[in-house]
Amino acid sequence: MVSFALHGIGVSGGIAIGRAQLVSHATLEVAHYTLAAHQVAAEIERFAAAVADVHSELEGLRASLTGGENPGEFAAFLDVHSMILGDPTLAEVPKQIIADKRCNAEWALTLQIGALTSQFEQIDDAYLRERKADVVQVGERVLKRLMGRPGALPAPRAEEQTILVAHDLSPADVIQFKQHRYAGFITDLGGITSHTAIVARSLNVPAVVATHHARQLIREGEMLIIDGGHHVVIVNPDRAVLAEYRLRQEEFGLARQKLRRLKSKPAQTIDGIRVHLYANIELPEDIEPALANGAEGVGLFRSEFLFLNRPGLPGEEEQFEAFRKVAHGMQGRPVTIRTLDLGADKELAGLEGLTRVAPNPALGLRAVRFCLAEPKLFQTQLRAILRASHYGSVRILIPMLASAAEIEQTLAMVARAKQSLGEQGIPFDPNVQVGGMIEIPAAVIAIGAFLRRLDFLSIGTNDLIQYTLAVDRSDQSVSHLYDPLHPAVVKLVAAAIGAAARARVPLAVCGEMAGDVQLTRLLLGLGLRDFSMHPSHLLQVKQSVLKTDVAAIAPLVERIRRADDPARIAELVAQLNA
Ligand code: PEP
Ligand code: MG
Repeated sequence: MVSFALHGIGVSGGIAIGRAQLVSHATLEVAHYTLAAHQVAAEIERFAAAVADVHSELEGLRASLTGGENPGEFAAFLDVHSMILGDPTLAEVPKQIIADKRCNAEWALTLQIGALTSQFEQIDDAYLRERKADVVQVGERVLKRLMGRPGALPAPRAEEQTILVAHDLSPADVIQFKQHRYAGFITDLGGITSHTAIVARSLNVPAVVATHHARQLIREGEMLIIDGGHHVVIVNPDRAVLAEYRLRQEEFGLARQKLRRLKSKPAQTIDGIRVHLYANIELPEDIEPALANGAEGVGLFRSEFLFLNRPGLPGEEEQFEAFRKVAHGMQGRPVTIRTLDLGADKELAGLEGLTRVAPNPALGLRAVRFCLAEPKLFQTQLRAILRASHYGSVRILIPMLASAAEIEQTLAMVARAKQSLGEQGIPFDPNVQVGGMIEIPAAVIAIGAFLRRLDFLSIGTNDLIQYTLAVDRSDQSVSHLYDPLHPAVVKLVAAAIGAAARARVPLAVCGEMAGDVQLTRLLLGLGLRDFSMHPSHLLQVKQSVLKTDVAAIAPLVERIRRADDPARIAELVAQLNA
């Protein structure tokens, strides 16, 4: 048997080893035949019955989700699929095609799926375009019904681990992973933001999507290895490779288990310094992994994600609901909501009538600059955040501040939002704290203006590095120059931490540096006590905190702080972690 590798996008880390189980791809196997005139009515009925069956099937799956521990997104995806199925373009138009063309229901439905998907391809909006996959998945489900195949996935073979190989899987398919213990899955289609990928991540199942030809190249029963972390699938591995991966799988499992035990342990260094570890989140759903990994609060809620991948802008009510959900869900733990950071790589399409972002967007009208230029939009968001502050411990964080004038203007906007809520008798926390992000070198160099006016600070190292080194963080061609350990970056981070400590203003780091376990000791040594990071890094960073003696590393950290040769810094950091 030939051994080969397929590359795709690993949507969920970890390693799975098992035998391939192929999932059929109904649209490729559809028959086409002509009906006699008297058969048409019965064929239309057969189609309607299949649609009704799939409706009940989706409803059944939806009802099975009331258990509580299921990720909320499942229900939302099933609702989307039920809605698509109820739409006349899918539920009614094929009946007309059956009547007009006197063709079988499967063929009529296939024609209509084709027509709908080509309409989707013309859409400019990336989010809506991606929903094409949902239409195809729903259509496929009805097709399988018509072809006499149940919607359920095949049960995994009992005797060994099974890996599903499919052209595409719908979120409804992936839900069945809860009933059957598949070891992992591989699909031809899908992307990092596809619904199926999102669900897979929340289930923690190793998976690789977007392999293009896996379904065609892999045969039933072949031995497979999925290495989600390295985005690769190995087909028919030889004995040595298999043994190596079994070992890695075991190590991965053990490490994960060990880390999980740290969830409720306070993050404290060997010499008794208490450290606080918070989560960065992008959507309300992210509080689930944050809590599961022991987050002590939300250190950064990137609120702009509520504005992306959707038609139109979210209004006050919608934003309030999202913020309230997080405030409530975090059960009294602090929740830091960052106001809109649109612009640069997070540009919003379709902001008709609003101030446009210019060329060189990273230096342009981004984040708080954009909000101050669009006071109505800013007021809407500030009111939504303030209203949520009544339901938990909410703080407001302002991105990309550069000067005292911007801080003053922003604080005036907050005061205005408070006043309007007060006049309307809408409750909010009058003492809500307002903090600023330190992302521009100017903010560190003239940090006094920040310390005097703001309640807390948070260093956004992703941008601080970009602006310090003049390296566009989203430009591949200069990514080798993007260096968190550049002496200038180390000195700026150290200066900000030191100044805030002297002024007794709380300061966190919420950029990627906070979640990089190689940098935990350095940041601790520089005096950092509040870290905010992607939930998946929390336990590893906690493990490093627990193993660090801050007093003992102080001399080495001091040498790093003074060094001005990048290679020397890298060497000293390696020593620090040894
Ligand atoms: C940062 O710049 O470090 C940060 C946390 O903000 P974002 O990555 O959203 O720009
Ligand atoms: Mg930033």
